[in-house]
Amino acid sequence: MPFWDRGHLHISLTSPYKQDLYGTALGGGAPSEKAINADIVYFRDIHALTDVEDGALKGKIAFVDGDPMVKSQTGAGYGQANQRRRIGWQHAQRGGAQALVVRSVGSDSHRFPHTGMMSANNSGEEGNKWADIPVVAISNPDADHLRRLHNLGKPLSLSLHSESKWKGEVSSGNVVLDLVGSEKPEEIVLIGGHLDSWDLGTGAVDDGAGIAITTAAAALISTLPTRPKRTIRVVMFGAEEVGLLGAFAYAKQHEKNLANHVLATESDFGAQTIWQLSSNVNEDATALVDDIAKMLSPLGIIRGGSDVVGGGPDIIPLAKKGVPTIRLEQNGRDYFDLHHTPDDTLDKIDPDELAQNIAAYAAAIYLLADSEVAFK
Ligand SMILES: [Zn+2]
Repeated sequence: MPFWDRGHLHISLTSPYKQDLYGTALGGGAPSEKAINADIVYFRDIHALTDVEDGALKGKIAFVDGDPMVKSQTGAGYGQANQRRRIGWQHAQRGGAQALVVRSVGSDSHRFPHTGMMSANNSGEEGNKWADIPVVAISNPDADHLRRLHNLGKPLSLSLHSESKWKGEVSSGNVVLDLVGSEKPEEIVLIGGHLDSWDLGTGAVDDGAGIAITTAAAALISTLPTRPKRTIRVVMFGAEEVGLLGAFAYAKQHEKNLANHVLATESDFGAQTIWQLSSNVNEDATALVDDIAKMLSPLGIIRGGSDVVGGGPDIIPLAKKGVPTIRLEQNGRDYFDLHHTPDDTLDKIDPDELAQNIAAYAAAIYLLADSEVAFK
């Protein structure tokens, strides 16, 4: 995998008065040779930046605001808010800006900035795949501060120095554990999470929790007197954060055996309780999932949609190739307070909530792996 190194960042407001800001480089950003001192051009949101004319930002630093994410059970709003992190650089660069600063994609009001990967530009233009300017996310309160000053009509200037850069190639990997089925060992029910995490925190929530939940569920099932009929495979995906590299590598490696992957799901939304079981399987199997949802109701879990595509980020390459999916959906209210920040640490995980996840996975995955129902 290509290795991107954050390096040191310094960002401060220099006009109308001096104030250090709390920021972090976004994945894929380029370094500034020395400190950039420039005026800000303020954009209310990503749509305003998308409309910028070529070359209109020469010598400036673009700042893209947006509203802080609203806390929600489903994490709704992330996809939209994330656009400024993902594609903002392409428009800032087209406009000729020296750097791009964005409001963090998060629902908290702490001064921790949220990092995350930018999207590559895959249009095929030579030398334009990744940003060649520094791109920085600042904390929500710092973005509020810039917004207020802008609304007061104050001209804003920043000083920004970033050392982030690409540094050649390194290795990552997937770790695979099989609990071999007793009657149909060739048929695989795949569960898992991802091993990598952003460097700012320890990755307890994203996605140490998912690894713990799925591994513990498999370990519990392994202690039962009989094995389920089908194989339960736990995949700990590598290099998810930088573009699902482990997931695509897995799908490619098992290309010829995907028909035997009868079902797949991933736990990658923190460690709060599961509240809903959704699925995307055929009619017979939908009835089975209905029954399983009823059995999970003492854990506070209801039946979700039966046409919900995608069992989690690392399952996307498999789902695209027709592997059926389910999802044990977690409450995501606190997830985007912590996501990709230094605050992603183990103390944020409630052992009782984690235990509910493990119980739900163990019960649901056992029943799905032990059934004779075809999911496709
Ligand atoms: Zn994750």
